[in-house]
Amino acid sequence: MTTTAPGLSERAVRAAHAHRTADPDGFSRRHDPDQWNRWARRARVARTIAAALQVSVDTVLVTDDPHHQYPTRTGPVPGDLITVTDPVTGRAWRFIPDFTTPGDGWLLLDQCPDCATEVPLTRIATLSDLGDYLDPDGDAPIADEARDDSNHQPDCALVLPTLGQLTTSNPET
Ligand SMILES: [Zn+2]
Repeated sequence: MTTTAPGLSERAVRAAHAHRTADPDGFSRRHDPDQWNRWARRARVARTIAAALQVSVDTVLVTDDPHHQYPTRTGPVPGDLITVTDPVTGRAWRFIPDFTTPGDGWLLLDQCPDCATEVPLTRIATLSDLGDYLDPDGDAPIADEARDDSNHQPDCALVLPTLGQLTTSNPET
């Protein structure tokens, strides 16, 4: 049996359905005058992180970050929450912008190794940064942002100043 790849129109309609399902409000309002600029900027964010992580751009969704707002001249705006869904495993990887490297790097959100709250844990600019973080033998440093105690449970050990570098090593090793 031979299968031909779907044409652009079919892929476009599929992409629209997928986006509307994943982010109904953002998708329906994207042409509002105050939204189009953000929509187009987020499209660039998706292209950039897709290239950095060597994934297809249609695996990336950029939506309003429910936990982070940023001040602008016209008032606070929601930050970007970037979700990369692995088509192989279905796992969703979540990132927020790294404002020390605007447009070029991101902070991976993952469970705090101590209190299990989702926090920004490590800086990612390339696929190898993610690999170093995931590799039990890697030594990816945790980001300073990971120690912001407002993100953690009150008794979390990660924010204690006496704690040395915490790695995400495999507990079986
Ligand atoms: Zn914690």
